Amino acid sequence: MLLPIDALLKQAIEQLAEAGSESPHIDAAVLLCHAIDKPRSYLLTWPEKTLEPAQYTAFDALMARRLTGEPVAYIIGEREFWSLPLKVAPHTLIPRPDTERLVELALDKIPANACDVLDLGTGTGAIALALASERRDIMVSGIDLRPEAAALAEANRANLHIPNARFLSGSWYSPLADDEQFAVIVSNPPYIDEHDPHLAQGDVRFEPKSALVAKDNGLADIRVISEQGRKHLSAGGWLLMEHGFEQGEAVREILHSLGYAEVATAQDYAGLDRVTMGCWQG
Ligand code: GLN
Repeated sequence: MLLPIDALLKQAIEQLAEAGSESPHIDAAVLLCHAIDKPRSYLLTWPEKTLEPAQYTAFDALMARRLTGEPVAYIIGEREFWSLPLKVAPHTLIPRPDTERLVELALDKIPANACDVLDLGTGTGAIALALASERRDIMVSGIDLRPEAAALAEANRANLHIPNARFLSGSWYSPLADDEQFAVIVSNPPYIDEHDPHLAQGDVRFEPKSALVAKDNGLADIRVISEQGRKHLSAGGWLLMEHGFEQGEAVREILHSLGYAEVATAQDYAGLDRVTMGCWQG
């Protein structure tokens, strides 16, 4: 029997909840809209409508993937960040709402004049494109180790018609010339310890380990970015990094020991330590 939209959604929500999804209502609605290529309002407007047979097949295929735990963002290939619809792929981290806090704090530190800004480990280009879209007078460079990620970020840039960003591939600062300097450097680097049990739960199981896990209790990449950042920050420039909620003190310690000033930690929307920053006085 071909179920109408409301009954189909109800059934899907039950299946997703049983499979352990933490957001069964949103998951079901997003996947159904993707299968029938309609906005969310359609589901509320036409609850009694039945679908074309091919649309049921398409929805079943999307549901089957979600029921194995695959993140919705990878299934539909898209996630919104800072109101920008971004393409995502399994070789990039899925942008998180908490990372919008890093964008807010960075916007606060970008000087009023036109300047250069760098985003390390850019992935989908989420942070770089959010900053470039807010400040059309600055130039944002995004770097990712993986060429596929840099290419995806570039495709997102072109798709969103954001002219003032560019993407490069290489390890941290390596694609840059030695004397290239920036007013602000931001990064959401890998910072999870390899033994953290949370790596075996939810969406992170499907995300690239290279974007999540760092040696030295998750601090190894933060240390490299901070150390080498001193060469690539202009005098008075700011470094801002996202980190785990228990890493604030350790990251402040790293920045202090490297000679950064005005070192401070800011909290995410849940009130947890999430971003630490420091000023390089040159
Ligand atoms: N905040 C992400 C998580 O805990 C991890 C992001 C990262 O490692 N940069 O799921």
